[in-house]
Amino acid sequence: MAEKRDYYEVLGVEKDADKKEIKKAYRKLAMKYHPDVSEDPESTEKFKEISEAYAVLSDEDKRGKYDQYGHAGMNGFSQEDIFNNVNFEDIFRGFGFGGGSSGGGGGFDSIFDLFGFGGGRRDGSRQGDDIAYELNITLEEAATGIERDIEVPHKKTCPHCNGSKAEPGSNVKTCETCGGTGQVRHVNNTPLGQFATVRPCSVCRGEGKLIETPCKECHGKGIIRKKSTIHVTIPPGVDNDNRLRVPGEGDVGVRGGPPGDLYVMIRVKEHKLFKRDGADLTYQMPISFVQASLGDSVDAPTLDGAVELKIPAGTQTGTSFRIKGQGMPHMRWNGKGNLYVKVKIVTPKKLNPKQKELLQEFADVSGDEIYAEEKGLFDKFKDAISH
Ligand SMILES: [Zn+2]
Ligand SMILES: [Zn+2]
Repeated sequence: MAEKRDYYEVLGVEKDADKKEIKKAYRKLAMKYHPDVSEDPESTEKFKEISEAYAVLSDEDKRGKYDQYGHAGMNGFSQEDIFNNVNFEDIFRGFGFGGGSSGGGGGFDSIFDLFGFGGGRRDGSRQGDDIAYELNITLEEAATGIERDIEVPHKKTCPHCNGSKAEPGSNVKTCETCGGTGQVRHVNNTPLGQFATVRPCSVCRGEGKLIETPCKECHGKGIIRKKSTIHVTIPPGVDNDNRLRVPGEGDVGVRGGPPGDLYVMIRVKEHKLFKRDGADLTYQMPISFVQASLGDSVDAPTLDGAVELKIPAGTQTGTSFRIKGQGMPHMRWNGKGNLYVKVKIVTPKKLNPKQKELLQEFADVSGDEIYAEEKGLFDKFKDAISH
Protein backbone atom coordinates (compact mmCIF):
# COMPACT_ATOMS: atom_id res chain seq x y z
CA MET A 1 0.00 0.00 0.00
CA ALA A 2 1.26 3.45 -0.85
CA GLU A 3 1.95 5.76 2.06
CA LYS A 4 -1.16 7.79 2.85
CA ARG A 5 -0.76 11.53 2.50
CA ASP A 6 -1.53 13.95 5.26
CA TYR A 7 -5.15 15.11 5.05
CA TYR A 8 -4.27 18.78 5.54
CA GLU A 9 -1.69 18.54 2.79
CA VAL A 10 -4.22 16.80 0.51
CA LEU A 11 -6.64 19.71 0.88
CA GLY A 12 -3.86 22.31 0.95
CA VAL A 13 -5.02 23.91 4.20
CA GLU A 14 -3.27 24.86 7.42
CA LYS A 15 -3.54 22.62 10.51
CA ASP A 16 -5.66 25.26 12.24
CA ALA A 17 -7.99 25.87 9.30
CA ASP A 18 -11.62 26.35 10.33
CA LYS A 19 -14.60 24.48 8.93
CA LYS A 20 -15.34 27.15 6.32
CA GLU A 21 -11.81 27.12 4.93
CA ILE A 22 -11.80 23.34 4.76
CA LYS A 23 -15.11 23.25 2.93
CA LYS A 24 -13.96 25.92 0.50
CA ALA A 25 -10.71 24.08 -0.22
CA TYR A 26 -12.57 20.83 -0.80
CA ARG A 27 -15.15 22.39 -3.12
CA LYS A 28 -12.39 23.93 -5.18
CA LEU A 29 -10.49 20.65 -5.54
CA ALA A 30 -13.68 18.67 -6.13
CA MET A 31 -14.51 20.95 -9.08
CA LYS A 32 -11.14 20.09 -10.53
CA TYR A 33 -11.03 16.36 -9.88
CA HIS A 34 -14.64 15.25 -10.06
CA PRO A 35 -14.48 12.30 -12.50
CA ASP A 36 -17.46 13.70 -14.41
CA VAL A 37 -15.51 16.79 -15.43
CA SER A 38 -11.84 15.90 -15.19
CA GLU A 39 -9.80 14.50 -18.07
CA ASP A 40 -7.02 13.40 -15.71
CA PRO A 41 -6.88 9.55 -15.72
CA GLU A 42 -6.08 9.64 -12.02
CA SER A 43 -9.00 11.90 -11.21
CA THR A 44 -11.02 9.13 -9.54
CA GLU A 45 -8.19 8.33 -7.15
CA LYS A 46 -7.56 12.00 -6.48
CA PHE A 47 -11.24 12.65 -5.93
CA LYS A 48 -11.40 9.78 -3.46
CA GLU A 49 -8.36 11.11 -1.64
CA ILE A 50 -9.70 14.67 -1.25
CA SER A 51 -13.17 13.40 -0.32
CA GLU A 52 -11.77 11.20 2.42
CA ALA A 53 -9.61 14.07 3.71
CA TYR A 54 -12.67 16.32 3.75
CA ALA A 55 -14.86 13.69 5.44
CA VAL A 56 -12.36 13.42 8.30
CA LEU A 57 -11.41 17.08 8.72
CA SER A 58 -15.01 18.33 8.56
CA ASP A 59 -16.03 16.11 11.47
CA GLU A 60 -14.87 17.35 14.87
CA ASP A 61 -14.53 13.94 16.48
CA LYS A 62 -12.68 12.38 13.54
CA ARG A 63 -10.49 15.44 13.11
CA GLY A 64 -9.55 15.31 16.80
CA LYS A 65 -8.53 11.67 16.48
CA TYR A 66 -6.61 12.35 13.31
CA ASP A 67 -4.77 15.29 14.90
CA GLN A 68 -3.76 13.10 17.79
CA TYR A 69 -2.91 9.78 16.17
CA GLY A 70 -2.63 10.49 12.45
CA HIS A 71 -4.01 7.86 10.11
CA ALA A 72 -3.85 5.27 12.89
CA GLY A 73 -6.62 7.20 14.63
CA MET A 74 -8.92 6.28 11.73
CA ASN A 75 -8.32 2.55 12.09
CA GLY A 76 -11.47 2.06 14.10
CA PHE A 77 -13.63 3.53 11.33
CA SER A 78 -14.88 1.66 8.31
CA GLN A 79 -15.06 3.55 5.01
CA GLU A 80 -18.77 3.99 5.54
CA ASP A 81 -18.12 5.34 9.04
CA ILE A 82 -15.68 7.89 7.68
CA PHE A 83 -18.20 9.25 5.21
CA ASN A 84 -21.35 8.92 7.26
CA ASN A 85 -21.46 12.52 8.46
CA VAL A 86 -20.73 14.20 5.18
CA ASN A 87 -23.57 15.77 3.31
CA PHE A 88 -22.20 15.59 -0.21
CA GLU A 89 -25.56 16.58 -1.58
CA ASP A 90 -25.18 19.90 0.17
CA ILE A 91 -21.63 20.41 -1.09
CA PHE A 92 -22.36 19.60 -4.71
CA ARG A 93 -25.62 21.49 -4.92
CA GLY A 94 -25.32 23.64 -7.98
CA PHE A 95 -22.35 21.79 -9.43
CA GLY A 96 -24.51 20.08 -12.02
CA PHE A 97 -22.57 16.84 -11.96
CA GLY A 98 -23.96 13.44 -12.76
CA GLY A 99 -25.86 14.43 -15.89
CA GLY A 100 -28.89 15.76 -14.03
CA SER A 101 -30.25 18.95 -15.49
CA SER A 102 -32.46 19.88 -12.56
CA GLY A 103 -29.43 21.26 -10.79
CA GLY A 104 -29.92 19.87 -7.31
CA GLY A 105 -27.93 17.06 -5.80
CA GLY A 106 -25.98 16.03 -8.85
CA GLY A 107 -22.95 13.87 -8.10
CA PHE A 108 -24.36 12.53 -4.88
CA ASP A 109 -24.91 8.94 -6.00
CA SER A 110 -21.71 8.76 -7.96
CA ILE A 111 -19.56 9.37 -4.90
CA PHE A 112 -20.91 6.24 -3.34
CA ASP A 113 -20.35 4.34 -6.59
CA LEU A 114 -16.75 5.50 -6.57
CA PHE A 115 -16.05 4.06 -3.18
CA GLY A 116 -17.65 0.77 -4.05
CA PHE A 117 -20.34 0.93 -1.39
CA GLY A 118 -23.27 -1.31 -1.99
CA GLY A 119 -23.87 -4.92 -2.85
CA GLY A 120 -22.73 -7.53 -5.34
CA ARG A 121 -21.55 -7.04 -8.87
CA ARG A 122 -23.08 -8.22 -12.09
CA ASP A 123 -19.92 -9.90 -13.37
CA GLY A 124 -19.93 -12.47 -10.53
CA SER A 125 -17.04 -10.80 -8.76
CA ARG A 126 -17.26 -10.64 -5.02
CA GLN A 127 -15.34 -8.93 -2.27
CA GLY A 128 -12.99 -11.22 -0.35
CA ASP A 129 -13.87 -12.21 3.20
CA ASP A 130 -12.93 -10.06 6.15
CA ILE A 131 -10.67 -11.78 8.60
CA ALA A 132 -10.06 -11.29 12.30
CA TYR A 133 -6.76 -11.44 14.09
CA GLU A 134 -6.49 -11.49 17.85
CA LEU A 135 -3.66 -9.37 19.24
CA ASN A 136 -2.70 -9.79 22.89
CA ILE A 137 -1.02 -6.78 24.47
CA THR A 138 -0.06 -5.78 27.99
CA LEU A 139 -1.70 -2.99 29.97
CA GLU A 140 1.52 -0.97 29.64
CA GLU A 141 1.34 -1.34 25.85
CA ALA A 142 -2.31 -0.32 25.86
CA ALA A 143 -1.34 2.78 27.86
CA THR A 144 1.38 3.99 25.50
CA GLY A 145 0.11 2.57 22.22
CA ILE A 146 2.40 0.36 20.17
CA GLU A 147 3.47 -0.52 16.68
CA ARG A 148 3.64 -4.19 15.83
CA ASP A 149 4.38 -6.44 12.91
CA ILE A 150 1.84 -9.22 12.92
CA GLU A 151 1.85 -12.41 10.86
CA VAL A 152 -1.58 -12.78 9.37
CA PRO A 153 -2.70 -15.90 7.48
CA HIS A 154 -4.95 -14.96 4.60
CA LYS A 155 -5.90 -16.04 1.10
CA LYS A 156 -3.86 -14.39 -1.62
CA THR A 157 -3.68 -14.73 -5.39
CA CYS A 158 -1.43 -17.69 -6.26
CA PRO A 159 1.85 -16.16 -7.41
CA HIS A 160 2.74 -19.24 -9.53
CA CYS A 161 -0.25 -19.04 -11.90
CA ASN A 162 -1.08 -15.43 -11.08
CA GLY A 163 -4.61 -16.52 -10.22
CA SER A 164 -5.29 -18.09 -13.64
CA LYS A 165 -5.60 -21.58 -12.03
CA ALA A 166 -3.65 -23.11 -14.95
CA GLU A 167 -0.05 -24.30 -14.83
CA PRO A 168 1.96 -21.62 -16.64
CA GLY A 169 2.56 -22.62 -20.28
CA SER A 170 -0.18 -25.26 -20.29
CA ASN A 171 -3.14 -25.38 -22.62
CA VAL A 172 -6.25 -23.37 -21.79
CA LYS A 173 -9.28 -23.63 -24.08
CA THR A 174 -12.31 -21.41 -24.23
CA CYS A 175 -15.40 -23.29 -23.10
CA GLU A 176 -17.56 -24.01 -26.13
CA THR A 177 -20.75 -24.60 -24.16
CA CYS A 178 -20.93 -21.04 -22.88
CA GLY A 179 -18.68 -19.43 -25.45
CA GLY A 180 -16.32 -18.25 -22.70
CA THR A 181 -18.87 -16.18 -20.80
CA GLY A 182 -19.18 -18.69 -17.97
CA GLN A 183 -22.95 -18.26 -18.09
CA VAL A 184 -25.73 -20.18 -19.84
CA ARG A 185 -29.14 -18.79 -20.59
CA HIS A 186 -32.08 -21.12 -20.04
CA VAL A 187 -35.47 -20.34 -21.46
CA ASN A 188 -38.44 -21.93 -19.72
CA ASN A 189 -41.83 -22.08 -21.37
CA THR A 190 -44.64 -21.77 -18.88
CA PRO A 191 -48.39 -21.16 -19.27
CA LEU A 192 -47.66 -17.55 -18.33
CA GLY A 193 -45.08 -17.10 -21.03
CA GLN A 194 -41.35 -17.45 -21.49
CA PHE A 195 -38.94 -16.89 -18.64
CA ALA A 196 -35.24 -16.66 -19.12
CA THR A 197 -32.80 -17.46 -16.35
CA VAL A 198 -29.03 -17.13 -16.43
CA ARG A 199 -27.02 -19.80 -14.62
CA PRO A 200 -23.31 -20.55 -14.31
CA CYS A 201 -22.10 -22.92 -17.05
CA SER A 202 -21.90 -26.46 -15.64
CA VAL A 203 -19.17 -27.59 -18.06
CA CYS A 204 -16.58 -24.98 -17.06
CA ARG A 205 -18.18 -24.21 -13.66
CA GLY A 206 -18.62 -20.61 -14.59
CA GLU A 207 -14.97 -20.09 -15.50
CA GLY A 208 -15.51 -19.68 -19.23
CA LYS A 209 -12.39 -21.73 -19.89
CA LEU A 210 -11.20 -25.31 -19.65
CA ILE A 211 -7.85 -25.95 -18.04
CA GLU A 212 -5.83 -29.00 -19.10
CA THR A 213 -3.15 -28.83 -16.42
CA PRO A 214 -4.18 -27.17 -13.16
CA CYS A 215 -1.57 -25.03 -11.41
CA LYS A 216 0.67 -27.28 -9.30
CA GLU A 217 1.09 -24.73 -6.53
CA CYS A 218 -2.55 -23.99 -5.81
CA HIS A 219 -4.02 -27.20 -7.31
CA GLY A 220 -6.09 -25.18 -9.72
CA LYS A 221 -7.71 -22.93 -7.13
CA GLY A 222 -5.96 -19.73 -8.17
CA ILE A 223 -5.51 -18.76 -4.53
CA ILE A 224 -3.18 -19.88 -1.80
CA ARG A 225 -3.15 -19.47 1.93
CA LYS A 226 -0.12 -17.58 3.11
CA LYS A 227 1.11 -15.50 6.00
CA SER A 228 1.87 -11.86 5.42
CA THR A 229 3.63 -9.50 7.75
CA ILE A 230 1.42 -6.50 8.41
CA HIS A 231 2.47 -3.45 10.34
CA VAL A 232 -0.20 -2.16 12.70
CA THR A 233 -0.30 0.94 14.88
CA ILE A 234 -2.27 0.55 18.09
CA PRO A 235 -3.34 3.95 19.50
CA PRO A 236 -2.93 4.65 23.23
CA GLY A 237 -5.93 3.83 25.42
CA VAL A 238 -7.20 0.76 23.57
CA ASP A 239 -9.25 -1.66 25.61
CA ASN A 240 -10.51 -5.20 25.28
CA ASP A 241 -12.74 -5.76 22.26
CA ASN A 242 -11.60 -2.62 20.46
CA ARG A 243 -10.93 -3.51 16.87
CA LEU A 244 -8.72 -1.87 14.32
CA ARG A 245 -9.55 -2.13 10.67
CA VAL A 246 -6.77 -2.62 8.16
CA PRO A 247 -8.38 -2.16 4.75
CA GLY A 248 -7.56 -4.63 1.99
CA GLU A 249 -5.64 -7.12 4.13
CA GLY A 250 -8.43 -9.69 4.37
CA ASP A 251 -8.88 -12.52 1.86
CA VAL A 252 -8.39 -11.88 -1.84
CA GLY A 253 -11.55 -11.06 -3.80
CA VAL A 254 -13.35 -13.52 -6.05
CA ARG A 255 -13.17 -13.01 -9.84
CA GLY A 256 -11.42 -9.69 -9.58
CA GLY A 257 -13.50 -8.38 -6.67
CA PRO A 258 -11.77 -6.21 -4.06
CA PRO A 259 -10.05 -7.89 -1.10
CA GLY A 260 -11.71 -8.07 2.30
CA ASP A 261 -10.47 -6.20 5.35
CA LEU A 262 -8.42 -7.32 8.30
CA TYR A 263 -9.80 -6.63 11.76
CA VAL A 264 -7.28 -6.66 14.57
CA MET A 265 -9.14 -7.53 17.77
CA ILE A 266 -7.41 -6.19 20.85
CA ARG A 267 -7.03 -8.31 23.99
CA VAL A 268 -5.43 -6.58 26.94
CA LYS A 269 -3.86 -9.06 29.38
CA GLU A 270 -4.68 -8.93 33.09
CA HIS A 271 -2.16 -6.91 35.05
CA LYS A 272 -0.55 -8.20 38.25
CA LEU A 273 -1.10 -4.95 40.16
CA PHE A 274 -3.79 -2.92 38.43
CA LYS A 275 -7.43 -3.57 37.71
CA ARG A 276 -8.87 -1.52 34.88
CA ASP A 277 -12.29 0.06 34.64
CA GLY A 278 -12.48 2.12 31.45
CA ALA A 279 -9.80 4.76 31.81
CA ASP A 280 -9.44 4.30 35.58
CA LEU A 281 -7.10 1.93 37.33
CA THR A 282 -7.36 0.50 40.84
CA TYR A 283 -4.55 -0.82 42.96
CA GLN A 284 -5.04 -2.54 46.30
CA MET A 285 -2.22 -1.61 48.66
CA PRO A 286 -1.47 -3.53 51.84
CA ILE A 287 -0.44 -1.36 54.82
CA SER A 288 0.14 -2.21 58.45
CA PHE A 289 -2.26 -1.13 61.21
CA VAL A 290 0.59 0.95 62.61
CA GLN A 291 0.90 2.89 59.34
CA ALA A 292 -2.87 3.26 59.25
CA SER A 293 -3.00 4.47 62.83
CA LEU A 294 -0.03 6.84 62.81
CA GLY A 295 -0.09 7.88 59.19
CA ASP A 296 2.80 7.37 56.79
CA SER A 297 4.23 8.31 53.45
CA VAL A 298 4.41 5.34 51.08
CA ASP A 299 5.44 4.58 47.50
CA ALA A 300 2.39 3.82 45.37
CA PRO A 301 3.03 2.09 42.04
CA THR A 302 1.78 3.69 38.79
CA LEU A 303 2.32 2.68 35.17
CA ASP A 304 5.06 5.33 35.07
CA GLY A 305 6.85 4.22 38.25
CA ALA A 306 6.29 4.92 41.94
CA VAL A 307 4.76 8.12 43.31
CA GLU A 308 4.61 9.29 46.91
CA LEU A 309 1.28 8.83 48.65
CA LYS A 310 0.46 10.28 52.08
CA ILE A 311 -1.59 7.99 54.31
CA PRO A 312 -3.23 10.19 56.95
CA ALA A 313 -3.32 9.03 60.57
CA GLY A 314 -6.49 7.08 61.35
CA THR A 315 -6.99 5.64 57.87
CA GLN A 316 -9.54 2.82 57.71
CA THR A 317 -9.20 -0.28 55.61
CA GLY A 318 -10.93 0.09 52.22
CA THR A 319 -10.20 3.82 51.98
CA SER A 320 -9.48 4.86 48.41
CA PHE A 321 -6.97 7.55 47.49
CA ARG A 322 -7.18 9.16 44.08
CA ILE A 323 -4.00 9.83 42.15
CA LYS A 324 -5.12 12.13 39.36
CA GLY A 325 -4.12 11.42 35.77
CA GLN A 326 -2.30 8.16 36.49
CA GLY A 327 -4.93 6.00 34.80
CA MET A 328 -5.19 5.04 31.13
CA PRO A 329 -5.37 7.54 28.26
CA HIS A 330 -8.85 8.29 26.96
CA MET A 331 -9.48 7.07 23.43
CA ARG A 332 -12.00 9.73 22.51
CA TRP A 333 -10.52 12.82 24.07
CA ASN A 334 -7.27 14.11 25.51
CA GLY A 335 -6.21 13.33 29.03
CA LYS A 336 -6.09 10.31 31.24
CA GLY A 337 -8.21 8.57 33.85
CA ASN A 338 -7.23 8.27 37.52
CA LEU A 339 -5.49 5.70 39.63
CA TYR A 340 -7.32 4.72 42.82
CA VAL A 341 -5.19 3.28 45.58
CA LYS A 342 -7.38 1.31 47.93
CA VAL A 343 -5.69 0.48 51.20
CA LYS A 344 -6.05 -2.86 52.92
CA ILE A 345 -4.93 -3.06 56.53
CA VAL A 346 -3.06 -6.28 57.11
CA THR A 347 -3.32 -7.90 60.53
CA PRO A 348 -0.03 -9.56 61.52
CA LYS A 349 -0.32 -13.36 61.71
CA LYS A 350 2.89 -14.23 63.52
CA LEU A 351 4.08 -12.20 66.46
CA ASN A 352 7.17 -12.76 68.59
CA PRO A 353 6.91 -12.50 72.40
CA LYS A 354 8.22 -8.93 72.45
CA GLN A 355 5.63 -7.79 69.87
CA LYS A 356 2.86 -9.55 71.77
CA GLU A 357 3.94 -7.86 74.98
CA LEU A 358 3.91 -4.42 73.35
CA LEU A 359 0.50 -4.97 71.83
CA GLN A 360 -0.89 -6.21 75.12
CA GLU A 361 0.50 -3.12 76.79
CA PHE A 362 -1.08 -0.99 74.08
CA ALA A 363 -4.43 -2.69 74.70
CA ASP A 364 -4.13 -2.17 78.44
CA VAL A 365 -3.47 1.55 78.17
CA SER A 366 -6.15 2.16 75.50
CA GLY A 367 -9.04 0.07 76.74
CA ASP A 368 -12.20 0.31 74.63
CA GLU A 369 -12.12 4.04 74.05
CA ILE A 370 -10.29 3.87 70.67
CA TYR A 371 -13.23 1.95 69.19
CA ALA A 372 -15.80 4.10 70.97
CA GLU A 373 -17.65 5.18 67.83
CA GLU A 374 -18.23 1.66 66.44
CA LYS A 375 -18.71 0.30 69.95
CA GLY A 376 -21.50 2.74 70.64
CA LEU A 377 -23.43 1.52 67.59
CA PHE A 378 -23.00 -2.07 68.67
CA ASP A 379 -24.33 -1.34 72.16
CA LYS A 380 -27.42 0.30 70.66
CA PHE A 381 -27.93 -2.76 68.47
CA LYS A 382 -27.63 -5.06 71.49
CA ASP A 383 -30.20 -2.93 73.33
CA ALA A 384 -32.58 -3.14 70.39
CA ILE A 385 -32.57 -6.93 70.13
CA SER A 386 -32.83 -7.55 73.87
CA HIS A 387 -36.17 -5.75 74.05
ZN1 LIG B 1 -1.73 -21.34 -8.91
ZN1 LIG C 1 -18.67 -22.94 -19.98
